[in-house]
Amino acid sequence: MGEAVIELKDIKKDYGSHAVLKGVNMQVNKGDIYGLVGRNGAGKTTIFKMILGLSEITEGTVSIAGSRTKSELYANRNKVGFFVGAKYFNYLSARDNLKYFASVKGIPHRHAKEEIDRVLEIVGLQNVKKPVKTFSLGMGQRLGIANALLGNPEILILDEPTNGLDPQGIADVRNMIKRFREEYGMTVIVSSHILGELEHTADRFGIVNEGIVVKEITQDDLNEKKSVIEIEVDDLERARQLLGEGGVKITRELAEKSTLEDYYFRLVGGSTE
Ligand code: ADP
Repeated sequence: MGEAVIELKDIKKDYGSHAVLKGVNMQVNKGDIYGLVGRNGAGKTTIFKMILGLSEITEGTVSIAGSRTKSELYANRNKVGFFVGAKYFNYLSARDNLKYFASVKGIPHRHAKEEIDRVLEIVGLQNVKKPVKTFSLGMGQRLGIANALLGNPEILILDEPTNGLDPQGIADVRNMIKRFREEYGMTVIVSSHILGELEHTADRFGIVNEGIVVKEITQDDLNEKKSVIEIEVDDLERARQLLGEGGVKITRELAEKSTLEDYYFRLVGGSTE
């Protein structure tokens, strides 16, 4: 286990009589790209809100960067940049929106322009001058990511940053996430309801189902479970015979490709169909 930068212990969250989180335990280590995956409504956004203090915790504890007290937790929340839904001023440009958010975040005025240029460049919006109301979905997601990057936080939380993007947009966001760790040394937590999407981006996964993190698994664990060789054959019986003679154990998995998606459905039930 690495050094924990975010730790949730037995987090419960009720909205009225509706128990949304039912005892979430999770640990994100320094340098992780941590993928939080689960169906829509599983509780991913609520978990982020608990970490970020955007909604009150009903029960349990959150620790950020080793915080041991509430005041340390509040202080350390400054180390976290996040994109968890966002409201922008529609008639303003990306730059003018970021000017506002930079001042809210307490970025000194004299550094703001340089910082805004930096984050706009990272997400590729540096030359876009038009108002946010004319943005495509992908541009909106990029602006959300730029906003999360303001102030160069150590930890980045991105809630469904690829939602609604086309394949190119998805690939761009994935590459950005990898860059955030490689070039800026950030720890990134990213959620998706599309299970396969983070499979090659994240190196640890928290699988969320019905208000619980049912399993934390590493990319290596997944690969181990994936030690399945796919062989295409014309004559299945003959192949069975030959492989059997060679001492190869034939399991039902011979025909199965194990992916994060398969793993998830085996764990929580259901299917993609
Ligand atoms: P996910 O991000 O995995 O899609 P959410 O955390 O948004 O899931 O939602 C988990 C559950 O909590 C859902 O059933 C949702 O309807 C409910 N929920 C979320 N926010 C609220 C709220 N403010 N009031 C009541 N119920 C909520």
